[in-house]
Formats: sequence, C-alpha cells, structure tokens
Amino acid sequence: NRIGGIMLRNDQLDQWDRECFFHPSTHLAQHARGEAPNRVIRTASGVFIEDRDGNRLLDAFAGLYCVNVGYGRQEIAEAIATQSKELAYYHAYVGHGTEASITLAKMILDRAPKNMSKVYFGLGGSDANETNVKLVWYMNNILGRPEKKKIISRWRGYHGSGLMTGSLTGLELFHKKFDLPLAQVIHTEAPYYYRRKDLAQSEADFVAHCVAELEALIEREGADTIAAFIGEPVLGTGGVVPPPAGYWAAIQKVLNKHDILLIADEVVTGFGRLGTMFGSDHYGIKPDIITIAKGLTSAYAPLSGSIVSDKVWNVLERGTDEFGAIGHGWTYSAHPIGAAAGVANLNLIDDLKLVENAGTVGAYLRKSMTEALGNHSHVGEVRGEGMLCAVEFVEDKDDRAFFDASKKIGPQVSSALLSEGVIARAMPQGDILGFAPPFCLSREEADTIVAAVARAVRAVLG
Ligand code: PMP
Repeated sequence: NRIGGIMLRNDQLDQWDRECFFHPSTHLAQHARGEAPNRVIRTASGVFIEDRDGNRLLDAFAGLYCVNVGYGRQEIAEAIATQSKELAYYHAYVGHGTEASITLAKMILDRAPKNMSKVYFGLGGSDANETNVKLVWYMNNILGRPEKKKIISRWRGYHGSGLMTGSLTGLELFHKKFDLPLAQVIHTEAPYYYRRKDLAQSEADFVAHCVAELEALIEREGADTIAAFIGEPVLGTGGVVPPPAGYWAAIQKVLNKHDILLIADEVVTGFGRLGTMFGSDHYGIKPDIITIAKGLTSAYAPLSGSIVSDKVWNVLERGTDEFGAIGHGWTYSAHPIGAAAGVANLNLIDDLKLVENAGTVGAYLRKSMTEALGNHSHVGEVRGEGMLCAVEFVEDKDDRAFFDASKKIGPQVSSALLSEGVIARAMPQGDILGFAPPFCLSREEADTIVAAVARAVRAVLG
C-alpha cells in the first residue's frame, strides 16, 4: 500500500476496513464480521479496474454510472493538478467565483436545452435535488402561493438519499427504518410497462394508465398543493427502464395544465449517456430544472448542478429584490477542483465524440445482449437506451413472475459475472442486472461483456 508512503500488508488493511470504515449502502454486520469479501480497488485505465491482488475487471457499470469518459484520463488529472496548485479553493458566496467555475457554467448552458438560464453548483446528485426542492418552495413563496409545496415522484425513481431526496426516491430500501418518506412527498406509478402488462394491452394504453394515475393523484391532493414533479428520463437505479413511447409528452401535458413544474433528474442521463447530450433532448422533455452530477466530471472530482430555466430564474431574482440574498449555499458550491475537472471532462467528451459512441456502441451492446440471451427461458426482457442496458430475470416468462426474493437470482448472476471478470450491478429491487459502461467502450469490449454474461447466466440458471 502506497498511501502516505507507508507499506501496508493486506491483512492490516482488511482489519482497518472492518474496524474503522462505515461503508455506505452495505450490510454493516456482515462486513464487520468479515463475511463479505473486501474489495479494494487500486488502479484503473479505460474500462478496466484492477484490485490490490492484480485482478483486472471490466467495469460495465462505470463505477456507479459515473466514470463516463473511462478511467485514467490524463487530461482531467492534469487539469485537477494544475487547479489545485494554482487555487485549491475559493468560495462562491456573495458573488465570488473562479475562472474554472464560471467557464464551466458557460459550457453547461451552451450544451443545455435552450430555455435554461443559470447553473447552481453543488457536490453530488442528492444535494442538487435538495437544492431543487428548496428553489421550488422559495419560488412558490415569492409567488404568494405558500400551500403549493408537495413534490410528486415515481415509485422506483432514484433521486438521492438525503432526507428530502431519500423521500423522493421510490425504493423501499431507502425508506425502511428511516421514518421516510417525508409528508411533502407523494409517489405515482412508474413507467415500467414490462412489469405492469396486466394493466394494459399496449404501450399506448399503459401511458394512458400512467396519465390517469397522475391525474387522480393531483385531483386527490389538489393541484394548488403540488409544486413539482421529478423524474429521471430513463428510470435508473429502480431497474434501468426506458419509458414507453409518448410517456413524457403525455405527462408534461398534465403538469402544464396544473401549473406543476418539471424537474428532470439527469444525474445519470446528462452529458451523453443516452447518445444525446441530455435525456431531455432525447425524449423532447421541456424541464423547468435539470439535475446534473456524475457525468459532469465523470466522477474525477465531486460536483453537481441544478440548471434552472428562465421561468424559475426570473422569480428567484425578483425574490432577492424583495427579500434580500438567497440563504442557500454549501461551502463547496462550485469547488474549483471539481469545476476544472468538469471543463476538462466536457472538452474530452467533445474531442473524442463520446456522446456519439455512447449511442452507437450502446445500441450494439443491447443488440448483442438480446441475441445472446433473449431466448433464454428465464430472461424476461433485455432493454435499455443509449449506453444503458438491463437484463431482467423471471421465474416464468409467460406470466412474468418474479423469482422468490430469497433466491437472490440477481446477486447470484452478478457474482458469477464477477468471476468471469466483468462488473455489472444487481439493481436493488427485482432480479435485474444493470449495465452502464463508460462511453469509450469498444465493440470488442461489448462482445467480452455479452459472452461473460451468457456464461454467468448459464452457470446460475442453466
Ligand atoms: N439522481 C439520480 C438519478 C441518481 O442516479 C443518483 C445517484 N445514483 C442521485 C440522484 C444521487 O446522487 P448522489 O449519490 O451523487 O448524491
């Protein structure tokens, strides 16, 4: 171990890991007892990571769908090094800024949908969505409608794990024993046609069902109590589910009718994952606020943002004329090291045409995955969009019955896949294996993934 120049034995590192390190989203007791293997990653390059024992693994989930340009990019490392030598930190309060943060704001707006006005910077997706809810509340107070505060989110949506954002997240695991969701959050149907075919004969019927559910919720709660609707263009952590055709146009129509703002959570889809710069471009969504994080810096440094539209900005600006400076800021808002990483990252995405590659190689990956697995008796669906792919396992293909959760089919397949040298993610709800590789994935690397998945599925399910 080279950290701090100390040579460290693996057993020492394992002991410290168990004794000192509180891991996020982890079975704490099993980890502390040493029942789960320690996974210590040491180096990475391109789409491969290497652990401390020298095992090389193809990371088909780009970390947590964030290392979009791939690992080991010297351009970003050098931008970070230069920035930290010249100016490691200065804050952004009371009109301060740095060359990197101002430049990045301009670069983001140059790429964002046309009606977008300003970028507020945070650190991660969760805090950006906390910001978004606060902005929407602030806005409705300025507009003299203090009752209009509830936020609609979808079941299976993922928007973070803070108090408000953990509430917006529509997955039981993130609510259980945390006294969540908070009362201001209400959930509606997820656009997950494959799982709800019992409800509708066609995609169009299912969209009509989602619209009716949303209308009924708005009717029940009262439109004058609802501020905003938040959704990911493609459901991510909830199962990697692209919406049925026409979904976003139909939802947006309802929201417009009831004067409910739309927050597009593009933490996963922003900056190219769907083969377009934003998922909103891909689906013709016209959001009032866009959440960005992950792909903004390809995770080389923590940075997130809330891109606000003219409509939102104009009210916020008016509010400060009436009530004084906006009381919302983090010490690390617009951190210059994150901003320098962001500038280098967006330049790299352009220079290497990575958005295009995400679209074409992503489509190739999905096509090959479908050819290899589509006919397997326990593969219910292979789906995705851009450089996102999912394989959903079912006990019975006709009635789409889940396997008993205790069989842990998803985790079993992902661990068999790991033995094949490929990392995918067993999504937290249902037996779904998710893939979100870096955008620089080659066709040969896509072939490697598919061949390994086919072997892993055969090993677990025959
Ligand atoms: N929104 C979406 C769509 C996400 O996928 C995530 C993280 N997976 C978040 C928000 C939260 O981001 P963070 O973990 O950086 O707080």
